[in-house]
Amino acid sequence: MDLTRKDIKYLIGVGNKRAEQLAADMHIATYDDMLQMYPYKYVDRSHIYAIGSLRADMPYVQIRGRFISLSTVEGRQKRMVAQFTDGTGSIEIVWFKGLDYIKNQINSTDEYLLFGKPTAYGQRLNMTHPEMEKEGEATEAGTLQPFYNTSDKMKRIGLNSKAIHKIIRNLFKEIGAQGIPETLPQSIVERCNLMSRSEAMMQIHFPQNVTNLERARYRFKFEELFYIQLSLLRNRNINRTRQAGLVFHKAGSYINQFYKECLPFEPTGAQKRVVKEMMADMSSGRQMNRLLQGDVGSGKTLVALMVMLIAIGNTDVNGKRYQACIMAPTEILATQHYENLRQLLGQMNVRVELLTGSTKKKARTAILEGLADGHVDIVVGTHALIEDTVVFRNLGLAVVDEQHRFGVAQRARLWKKAVLPPHILVMTATPIPRTLAMTVYGDLDVSVIDELPPGRKPVLTEHYFHNSRNSLNRFIRSQLQEGRQCYVVYPLIEESEKVDFRNLTEGYQYMQDAFKEYKVCMVHGKLSAEEKDRAMHEFVSGNAQIMVATTVIEVGVNVPNASVMIIESAERFGLSQLHQLRGRVGRGADQSYCILMTAYQLSQETRKRMEVMVGTTDGFEIAEADMRLRGPGNIEGTQQSGLPFTLHISDLVKDAQVVQYTREKAQELLAADPFLQSAENAIAVQRLSQLATENVNWSKIS
Ligand code: ADP
Ligand code: MG
Repeated sequence: MDLTRKDIKYLIGVGNKRAEQLAADMHIATYDDMLQMYPYKYVDRSHIYAIGSLRADMPYVQIRGRFISLSTVEGRQKRMVAQFTDGTGSIEIVWFKGLDYIKNQINSTDEYLLFGKPTAYGQRLNMTHPEMEKEGEATEAGTLQPFYNTSDKMKRIGLNSKAIHKIIRNLFKEIGAQGIPETLPQSIVERCNLMSRSEAMMQIHFPQNVTNLERARYRFKFEELFYIQLSLLRNRNINRTRQAGLVFHKAGSYINQFYKECLPFEPTGAQKRVVKEMMADMSSGRQMNRLLQGDVGSGKTLVALMVMLIAIGNTDVNGKRYQACIMAPTEILATQHYENLRQLLGQMNVRVELLTGSTKKKARTAILEGLADGHVDIVVGTHALIEDTVVFRNLGLAVVDEQHRFGVAQRARLWKKAVLPPHILVMTATPIPRTLAMTVYGDLDVSVIDELPPGRKPVLTEHYFHNSRNSLNRFIRSQLQEGRQCYVVYPLIEESEKVDFRNLTEGYQYMQDAFKEYKVCMVHGKLSAEEKDRAMHEFVSGNAQIMVATTVIEVGVNVPNASVMIIESAERFGLSQLHQLRGRVGRGADQSYCILMTAYQLSQETRKRMEVMVGTTDGFEIAEADMRLRGPGNIEGTQQSGLPFTLHISDLVKDAQVVQYTREKAQELLAADPFLQSAENAIAVQRLSQLATENVNWSKIS
């Protein structure tokens, strides 16, 4: 029997009560789970410091010496104080709790090893409640001492870091390292020169030295990331054989005509490349499932239009022409896409329609008919597109813009609108680092537009505090005098909607008073579609010079003459949102500016966020910083897809190279054995299903 599957409560030092707490707080149920509770840090206890060399700013240190005095001090809080010396100096040791116990532990003849943090106490140094072991009986001395995460509740029943370590020691005593089975295919262990699982378990909990520890940690990072990649890539193999796709044989006449007659500018190299990548997908006979990442302003709209033109330039075996749709998260955006497409298409004979929640009944009926009988080639819309009343004659391609606002389920409803699933292009301006994209969108192929159209000037960004209104207003005025326009954005979130709304309207009032000679308009989510349109139009047409708005303008809106973006209460926005907002300016030839307004008192994290914004305009850099500040789990667009398994030891940012490497290894393995059917890979299949059930079990409980 595999002893690592044993219930943790049977392990010496655990028992029912502790087992329950381990399950509740750490998701630990078996010996194997316990083994996977890797230490979060190690402290080198091979070094012994001379007491004379200690300073108050040192971290935890180990010292060796004798107690030369011990006294109990009565006072507000009773305590015990001892002098501890090693010949180079002496330090005061202080205890507040367990005084009788400690008194019995120490004598003046033996040598002791103490481990603790030196702190300044007036002119002197002291150390409170150090770990203490008698020289000769010491177990941690001379090692790398592991530290384990524990909860307060665990500590209350004695499960502190030290106790966990002891329990794991008991575990090894019971089953020995030999009792820990390998979980990676042998070929991988050998080819990648990995430590065996049993050896690595031993080294990660009881490291002999730093080199072994590093190899052990690497082995587990590798395993974790390898199985994530293997799982994603295997699923993709399975889906691909299942998902026969529409075949677009040719580029078609529409795209050719567009290229010759309508194209207003030369596509960038990156735009051309990604269109080629998509063409290869769409002609392959498999369904395209592609994510297009491109920073704000990188020109995704043109790419979307080009692939839609390819779609409608193709026919199925019955000679029926394909149709295409593009779905946007808001009405404003859908409308803007629609107008953009109309403009780009010029006189071309392509019927494009706009379908949103506010499309009037008569128009709606006509559009629905046109979609059903094939007269409408391209439809632009919002969620309205996924309603059951929308039926296509022959949908070939669905483009989803700004995917993070659409759930996976909603996207899936689009696929159902055709006999064979249409090709899917998901576009996002929330760039996430490639390694993360590979991992969280493992089932999607990823294309990246990594080049901005020529002639763009990076937006200059500055961080102002609220008390610098006057100089801010002078700056805005100087820009308006040059004929530019300006956005002023306020946060508005549901939880504090009332206050936020008041701030917005007060801000509107303030701008009207401060800029009497200019026209100010306001846009927010509470306006009716018509009111919103009217206000937007005022700004887009240049009639209004200042637009006060909530984040409804976050995505997509394109007013090249707007060169100033003021973000009020910028501390309340996340990095990716700030980046999106800033992307609304810098779209024309003029120098643009983004001003982040915040309160004076800021948390360190917020300060960092502002620094990142001031320091770079590169969306990928910002995404990386965001991941670092918030952890990959919180990155917009990743929550829905998520990882197939929980990460215990690796970090998608710091271990980016391992992600890349394991992906290659998983690809190699699957190239030789696409469905993992060989005897040697049985171990991988078993591990994958084990990881999957573990995840399901815990997600049910918590
Ligand atoms: P996003 O990727 O943010 O959706 P858009 O598609 O709105 O970007 O494009 C941003 C701006 O860049 C638009 O004004 C568009 O007309 C312009 N643009 C797109 N591609 C090019 C190009 N190859 N050369 C010059 N301008 C371009
Ligand atoms: Mg866009």
